[in-house]
Amino acid sequence: MSRALSNALWATSRLERCAGLQSIKLTRQSRFRLLLSSATQRFVPAVNMSSAPTISAPECLFHPMDFPQKILMGPGPSNAPPRVLGASALPLLGHLHPEFTQIMDEVKQGIQYAFQTQNEWTFAISGTGHAAMEAAVANLLETGEVALVCENGIWGQRFADMVERNGCVAQKLTLPMGQVFSLQQIEEGLKTHKPVMMFITHGESSGGTAQPLEGIGALCRKYNCLLVVDSVAAMGGVPLFMDKQEIDCLYSGSQKVLGAPPGTAPISFSQRARKKVETRSSKVRSYYFDANELANYWGCDAGPRRYHHTGPISSIYALREGLARLAEVGLAESWANHKECSEQLHQGVEQLGLSLLVKDKAVRNPCVTPIMVPQGVAWKDVADYAMKNYRVEISGGLGELAGKVWRIGVMGYNCTPDKIRLVLRAFSEGLVNCGYKPPK
Ligand SMILES: *Cc1c(COP(=O)(O)O)cnc(C)c1O
Repeated sequence: MSRALSNALWATSRLERCAGLQSIKLTRQSRFRLLLSSATQRFVPAVNMSSAPTISAPECLFHPMDFPQKILMGPGPSNAPPRVLGASALPLLGHLHPEFTQIMDEVKQGIQYAFQTQNEWTFAISGTGHAAMEAAVANLLETGEVALVCENGIWGQRFADMVERNGCVAQKLTLPMGQVFSLQQIEEGLKTHKPVMMFITHGESSGGTAQPLEGIGALCRKYNCLLVVDSVAAMGGVPLFMDKQEIDCLYSGSQKVLGAPPGTAPISFSQRARKKVETRSSKVRSYYFDANELANYWGCDAGPRRYHHTGPISSIYALREGLARLAEVGLAESWANHKECSEQLHQGVEQLGLSLLVKDKAVRNPCVTPIMVPQGVAWKDVADYAMKNYRVEISGGLGELAGKVWRIGVMGYNCTPDKIRLVLRAFSEGLVNCGYKPPK
């Protein structure tokens, strides 16, 4: 027997064992095929498969995970209610099984409710909020097209970055964090740049604003431009009406007001947006985010559902329960709760003698409140105090506001008066502990 053949025989028997096939006898034919293919490739085992692994199993994996309970009062993720966590622990189904596609249909209806839309193309992206941003850009822009990006915090910055990475042009309207855009500013931008798409952030989580959306959709229509709105840090906490406000592409995230684990991002496309996607002259640059494919997998077209990618089954269960909770609380009630709890927080903070970044009460995002760090206080020490003593998360600033503000999030399951009292207590104690003297 030639050396190559004996090697091949050795390899096939190894293959049977390695693949755990001992109990499944390979047929003579398949054994022969394996043997032939191996022999023709002059199989020489590169690795001696009988030798022990040289990298040993990590010691840490033999211990249980270290798992403290924390109260997440930053800009996200927020705590997930037990029913949501319970849902994500349910047994898996196949990603095309009828029981699972039924759950997907329920998620779709839940998103239509949360977004106040009747759009057919409504589903969840498999990925976090950033994935939905990428999906909006990839689907709605073709190479060289111009997008007008309203930037009053890091989300506009990131969206503009994504636009450019997709070979398109981002024209910016820029405001300092903490301020919102007027219709006049927007109209001016639309007139000057003639974009095919305009992006604006509804709930700014870096600057703490809630952008009024009334009238923007109508302006975008007037200038023949699609309106894309990021409501990751507002949806469910701030009034939002996708259809009435004439928004063409709206997306959110699972882990903020919905209180589900990060990993899914609700998104919806208006008829106009859908038409743009369906009549593109070039393919959507991203296979994974191609809305034509995703809409099919989510049962939004007439065709049978095809395998596009494996839906994140457990995350979809959790999203369903997050949406179910929002439906049970009711949108109007949820908006009112966020307003009340955030006002409780704002009052508490102002009583400490501190000021909020967003002065105009009417445009404060109830979901995320940036608080100015006073002179002489190290913001991080206060946040660390709250975490160490209360297991309460308080975040710092992003971008230009890094080191200048704290950010406290009030979202979904954490939107209760007792959580606000808790975070205020941890925060004020932390301040005093770090040398701050509140007014008497
Ligand atoms: C959190 C957030 C995102 C991004 O969400 P990830 O889940 O972190 O990817 C996008 N936009 C806004 C306004 C956010 O607050």
